[in-house]
Amino acid sequence: SVKNNGKSNYAFFDKDMVAQVQEKVDIEKQLRDSVENDGFKLLYQPQVDVESGEISGFEALIRLKDRFISPGVFIPIAEETDLIHELGRFVTEEAIRQLQEWKSRGLEGKTVAINFSAKQLKDEGYLEFLKDRLEHYGVAPSELEIEITESVFLEKKDQPLKFLEEVRSMGVRIALDDFGTGYSSLSYLTFLPVNKIKLDKSLSDRFLELENIGVMDSLISLAHSLNLEVIAEGVEYMEQYKKLKVGKCDRIQGYLFSKPLEKEDAELIYNKSFLNEN
Ligand code: C2E
Ligand code: MG
Ligand code: MG
Ligand code: MG
Repeated sequence: SVKNNGKSNYAFFDKDMVAQVQEKVDIEKQLRDSVENDGFKLLYQPQVDVESGEISGFEALIRLKDRFISPGVFIPIAEETDLIHELGRFVTEEAIRQLQEWKSRGLEGKTVAINFSAKQLKDEGYLEFLKDRLEHYGVAPSELEIEITESVFLEKKDQPLKFLEEVRSMGVRIALDDFGTGYSSLSYLTFLPVNKIKLDKSLSDRFLELENIGVMDSLISLAHSLNLEVIAEGVEYMEQYKKLKVGKCDRIQGYLFSKPLEKEDAELIYNKSFLNEN
């Protein structure tokens, strides 16, 4: 039954809700249009080795070419439709193509990580597509990394596990994204076929507080004992970097070193070290 707040029974269709639905419809239209007309691009955010200051890889983050809408807004809308499949394939091919382009200019040895939505598990030909694109561009699987979140295990466990095992047996690396949010469970780490965990920004932020340093240390050593690499994301302050370094975090990613960059700008800093000027 509908709540009557002392007003009309129809008050639940308020103007904001109509506007929200309209906005969603607009964005979905924009996404469809952009899928058809090459309207997306990837930005690249450096992942920096804590010890050397060198870039170990980049995370590819999707953007619309000519209108700013946050992927935090449009990815969930794409996920409600099959658009996420086409988007996911675009991201996959574009990242692999970029790896090949950089290699052709002598820029190599750094990974590119792409984000993979749980909904893409329903894209049946995806693994074939991935294999085919790597071969087509002559890119080694180990140069590519796929970021997943624990939400891939929300509905089923067996199917996503099998998918990840297959991805990993191809030689593509897997990172567990947004670790420390939602239903994050440490026991996941013992059986998931992942190479790396990405500590979510909310965790990186909490590690700024002294009383949480012990938690950071134990989490990172647990990960290391399971042979997992640890990267902290959303690192904005030198203080965080210093603490993460003491805690033996392997890499960091965040505005402290660089925002996500256009591919041309990523290329300019490809061999830069963030810790010394030469
Ligand atoms: P994510 O994968 O956890 O990516 C990290 C987000 O944090 C990115 O936002 C990045 O720009 C932002 N970020 C990086 N460093 C900092 C920092 O120091 N401070 C702050 N405040 N933010 C920082 P972005 O690009 O807006 O992406 C948001 C989310 O959208 C991503 O979270 C990911 O879940 C999703 N997403 C982005 N690109 C793709 C894609 O190609 N495919 C899929 N399926 N999802 C994507
Ligand atoms: Mg990510
Ligand atoms: Mg993340
Ligand atoms: Mg995150």
